[in-house]
Amino acid sequence: MGVYGIDLGTTNSAIARIDANGRPEVLIGMNGAPTVPSVVLFASAQDHVVGEGARRQARLDPEHVCTLVKRRMGDAEWRFAAHGQQWSAPAVSALILGSLAGDAEFGGGEPVERVVITVPAYFGDEERRATIQAGMYAGFDVAGVLSEPIAAALAYGFGRLDGSIDTGEIAARETVLVYDLGGGTFDATVIELADRRISVLAVEGDHQLGGADWDERIALHLSQRFCADHPDAEDPLDDSVGSQLVVLAAEQAKRDLTTAASTEVVVAHDGVRSVITLTRAELELLTSSLLRRTVDLTKAVIAAAGQRGVRHVDRLLLVGGSSRMPMVAEQLLKEFGLIGELHDPDLSVARGAALYGEKLEMERLVAADLVTRGRLSAGAELADADPRELEASLVRVAESFGQPVGLVRRMIEIQVDTVVSRGFGVLALDPFNGLAASWLVHRNQTLPIRVRRSYGTVRADQDQIELTIVEQQGQAASTRPEDSKVLVEGSIRDIPPGYPAGSEVRVSFEMGFDGVLHVTAYHVDADMPLTLSVQTGATLSQSDVARELDQLQRTRRRPA
Ligand code: AMP
Repeated sequence: MGVYGIDLGTTNSAIARIDANGRPEVLIGMNGAPTVPSVVLFASAQDHVVGEGARRQARLDPEHVCTLVKRRMGDAEWRFAAHGQQWSAPAVSALILGSLAGDAEFGGGEPVERVVITVPAYFGDEERRATIQAGMYAGFDVAGVLSEPIAAALAYGFGRLDGSIDTGEIAARETVLVYDLGGGTFDATVIELADRRISVLAVEGDHQLGGADWDERIALHLSQRFCADHPDAEDPLDDSVGSQLVVLAAEQAKRDLTTAASTEVVVAHDGVRSVITLTRAELELLTSSLLRRTVDLTKAVIAAAGQRGVRHVDRLLLVGGSSRMPMVAEQLLKEFGLIGELHDPDLSVARGAALYGEKLEMERLVAADLVTRGRLSAGAELADADPRELEASLVRVAESFGQPVGLVRRMIEIQVDTVVSRGFGVLALDPFNGLAASWLVHRNQTLPIRVRRSYGTVRADQDQIELTIVEQQGQAASTRPEDSKVLVEGSIRDIPPGYPAGSEVRVSFEMGFDGVLHVTAYHVDADMPLTLSVQTGATLSQSDVARELDQLQRTRRRPA
């Protein structure tokens, strides 16, 4: 039973797995397309529609159609209300995941159990947790969350590493810039591909920037033109059905302008219609500031990689459906002198996720094999195994799964190193500045991270310690509390008297490859641990989770 890779996208999603030859393959769903629109229609309190059917229905029933839910991930207060029910972002996402699983079974036969789900590199702790929650809601065992640019690089690099193994050559080191402009998020990442090692050196991004913003700008322009033609008619953007229609027309016009220099858009509203000619040059002018922002972020990521010793970028990979717009490659060529390569921008992320899932699965099987034979202690790393034992185990695992040994070996050998996308720290009392953020984890630091820092109590006989764990918000780490986002608050209470001021409180942050943070703290002399109390508004409460699970069980998927 393999691990499926899922690209849970802002506008489109896809699911992939490894085929019998060890190649990643995207599964074609019931609608015959490799990607499924990440759109959910709540048709009634008991059933829902996901994908193209929901997207089409958006015109007729916009109030019950949820789009761009990925932008809400990590916002625990947000709910989509339909038919008297409330749906959180992980719950809506779970419906999309469930639909992908149905499609995969339709296309591949095997039920989906273990998955790797991709997230934008720029996702912080809460967004990653929300993604894991969505997987759990869908009934999956989430083997890992993987950053999208790493997945894209893996899909690209795997082919390359594959070639190097077949010919026996050692691949040269290559620095790759991944420019990923999707429907709702933008990520720029600098990755180094060395012989069997994929290392993320720097990430930048904005998860409120994507193709949907291009659509909005165009929609605004179309409605202005429509209103100029028909001064007495209602502005289509003032009406929910009207605005959905204009946004859909805008998106189609944008796609048309990827291949054509000019297109005609029909806007019909309030009993009148306009036929509006839109040229590619106009589109580029209307959206130039959006493109500029992606270029600025790309410059910033190159500068951050420069600080880690990168002098030159060898290759530019274009990922995400929106990087198909000619303005993207043109501008990047102008700014950076790099010719962008588009390799299946919509599917490479799902493929890379499947590769990563297969890697995790192979590692798990080889480790289990070695542990069963007493050649590795439980919980130890594969790197600790005796190389001959490891090789023998690879052969056994490959044989039992009918896979080439070279493939299993390659999967296990590929190392993926990544960095954290934001800083994490605590709010601590600083003798000069009052309450200030103290950063334990810094942006672009290599994962996994394990850090420890000690703080002192403020007064003698202090009976309580409050700890506020924060995440960096802006690009630069600032000590001002208002520049950070509170993730969790915790406290150590009822500390007995007798400890002086300055008693040691030791705080440890651990962050694994998935970018999810685990915090522990304790009062060293009193040997008392911190209890984390989940901050209201930061994560879903247990009662919310129970209610949503029940709600999810009761809704049925209606074929699109
Ligand atoms: P993704 O989230 O990667 O699936 O990207 C979806 C985004 O890509 C949406 O905003 C689409 O409008 C946009 N897109 C897809 N195809 C094209 C195209 N041919 N030209 C321009 N934008 C496109």
